Amino acid sequence: MHRLALCLVALSGLACAAETAQPPNILFIMSDDHAERAISAYGSDLIETPNIDRIAHEGIRFANSFVTNSICAPSRAVLLTGKYSHLNGLRDNRDIFDGSQMTFPKLLQAAGYQTAIVGKWHLKSDPTGFDEWKILDDQGHYYNPVFIDNGTEVRLEGYVTDLITNLALEYLEDRDESRPFALLYQHKAPHRNWMPHPRHFVNEERVYPLPETFWDDYAGRPAAAGQDMRIADMWLSLDMKLQKEHFGKETGTGGKDTWDPTEGWADDYGRMTAQQRAAWDAHYDPIGEAFREMPPDSRALAEWRYQRYMRDYLGSVAAVDEGVGRLLDYLEEHDLAENTVVVYTSDQGFYLGEHGWYDKRFMYEESLRTPLIIRYPAAIAPGQVNDNLVLNLDMSPTLLDLAGVEIPSEMQGRTLRPLITATPTSEWRDAIYYRYYEFPHGWHNVRPHYGVRTDRYKLIHFEGDMDVWELFDLQSDPNELNNVYGRDNYSVIQEALRDKLTELQRELEDSP
Ligand code: CA
Repeated sequence: MHRLALCLVALSGLACAAETAQPPNILFIMSDDHAERAISAYGSDLIETPNIDRIAHEGIRFANSFVTNSICAPSRAVLLTGKYSHLNGLRDNRDIFDGSQMTFPKLLQAAGYQTAIVGKWHLKSDPTGFDEWKILDDQGHYYNPVFIDNGTEVRLEGYVTDLITNLALEYLEDRDESRPFALLYQHKAPHRNWMPHPRHFVNEERVYPLPETFWDDYAGRPAAAGQDMRIADMWLSLDMKLQKEHFGKETGTGGKDTWDPTEGWADDYGRMTAQQRAAWDAHYDPIGEAFREMPPDSRALAEWRYQRYMRDYLGSVAAVDEGVGRLLDYLEEHDLAENTVVVYTSDQGFYLGEHGWYDKRFMYEESLRTPLIIRYPAAIAPGQVNDNLVLNLDMSPTLLDLAGVEIPSEMQGRTLRPLITATPTSEWRDAIYYRYYEFPHGWHNVRPHYGVRTDRYKLIHFEGDMDVWELFDLQSDPNELNNVYGRDNYSVIQEALRDKLTELQRELEDSP
């Protein structure tokens, strides 16, 4: 009998600690900015992701999985520590992770696991708690990126998603088979600026449906109106991959007199090998030339940008899905699938044109949500979908629990084990707490805000240079267009949500 099964019978992690069966291996897969809407297991209308779907079909998919602070580095710190940003110290992308604090890899390492991370780290300080680390330098590049291999910089030739997958497979191949492993396999893709491998260039004839909120006017939501993350304002160089000669004020691109950071794009493009560039140009030059001949005007230009954005974003996702498939195949071929916990998640969700946006940060649904799928054949029945409100905060305690390691009381998340095993649970959280900080410095001009979400309602308070409350009824207004804060017919629920917010802030040791 497997160790976890024994634990469940004994109903005590301690009671089974003496069992000698090998604890499960852990393969934690995280992509960057991967919206649920770009995963077919989540009902995508945009792409098929058969390999990520395999994890869902053979395990459990969380339909209400959220982050506590929807931005890259802070989210990663929450995942590692099981603590909110105000306690782990990493509130926004400027902060440096304090690697001396407690993390789940450190605790696994202390319990006898061999631990490793390959791919994106993005926490500025060197990784701690890992026997081996091969991480991208900061954000990394899509083509021929620089990795930091246990402290030494090395530039690898190739496509970043494939390289990270190769490093993960090499690690598994070279590991010590006498001990369980915990491998964090973390992709850069599909982070901005969405540069696909040529094998995943999407046919320019394919047209993606415009989200119904694409032309949102942000009425009643001043923080939404004041952001700077509209697809309509995406850069023609870095985001759209046009070369300088393909655009400019003189081409009549909607009369938009805007600075376009062609230098950033020159760096991404310039680092390709001649062979890579030839494949790239064969696809993108005709796009640029067509644009130069007939640049779309204003509204049409925004929709043109949306289509180009979707093609490049989804092309970048396709490589992630392939990489996941290679890892799953490896586990099966080496008889590791049964006793390995496989997690697929992203550091947060992302806007794919909803509200006219890309990026994340807001507590609105598309960026508050993040995919979460877990497979562990030894203990999780296949094909489950769970509706409980779960958080990235829960990942550390969950992995420790599945590994049979005691969860430190300072962790604020909860183990998902009662939700993923056959053990019924009648008690779970009825609301989640969220807080975003990065303002006025940083990108995209999203005001700092905090809030609470229940299964039906969401209350948000925007601060910074404003003092605005928003309340949404997600049942009647799933797109969050109608702020009902202050309406008489919502006064009772509004009061209850404000009480809940206060209660959660007290419980989580945050102050408004
Ligand atoms: Ca991210």
